[in-house]
Amino acid sequence: MSKSQSSEPGFGNWDLGFGIFFMPIRCEIVTQERIVYADDVDMVVAPGRDGVLGILPHHAPLLTTLQFGELLVRKDGQEQSFAIGGGVLEVRPDKVTVLADAAEMADEIDLARAGEARQRAEELLAQGLPPGSDRFAEIENALKRSTLRLKVGQKKRRSGAPPPMDMGH
Ligand code: ATP
Repeated sequence: MSKSQSSEPGFGNWDLGFGIFFMPIRCEIVTQERIVYADDVDMVVAPGRDGVLGILPHHAPLLTTLQFGELLVRKDGQEQSFAIGGGVLEVRPDKVTVLADAAEMADEIDLARAGEARQRAEELLAQGLPPGSDRFAEIENALKRSTLRLKVGQKKRRSGAPPPMDMGH
């Protein structure tokens, strides 16, 4: 199937033949502090509340919470990875919006800082806090955040290139 760019100005859509057009989907990842990412992409894979969600253009509208996890964006055959610290995901046919409690692009992750945060959390948990207490939950969350940041940041640096997209199925 030949892939030729549409002659329509102002659209990043592709004529896939037989009159079928492939439109990208807008992806915006924002936190309270900043816009982490905004671009037209081919696919988003997000850590949804009930499991990994693969989102292509024209996806049915959806609103869900996000778990701690890795979010992947594919654009022009390249993948970009993000550490997402929970939040909300809204899908519309032409747009994916992530309102994240915390989000960092893999390249931005400070591995030394994440390593220190994990060590701190491990040391505090080793002190024998009562499981079920607020403090215990707080430190467990800090451990989850730092472990995720290490995973996403190290994977990127090890391979030098984004890994193949894992759909989790
Ligand atoms: P720390 O104890 O190192 O501050 P934390 O888990 O308490 O880590 P958060 O409260 O989740 O940090 O995040 C605070 C801000 O710092 C957010 O903007 C988040 O994106 C950023 N951040 C936290 N850790 C890192 C890191 N290792 N690399 C880059 N940015 C980070």
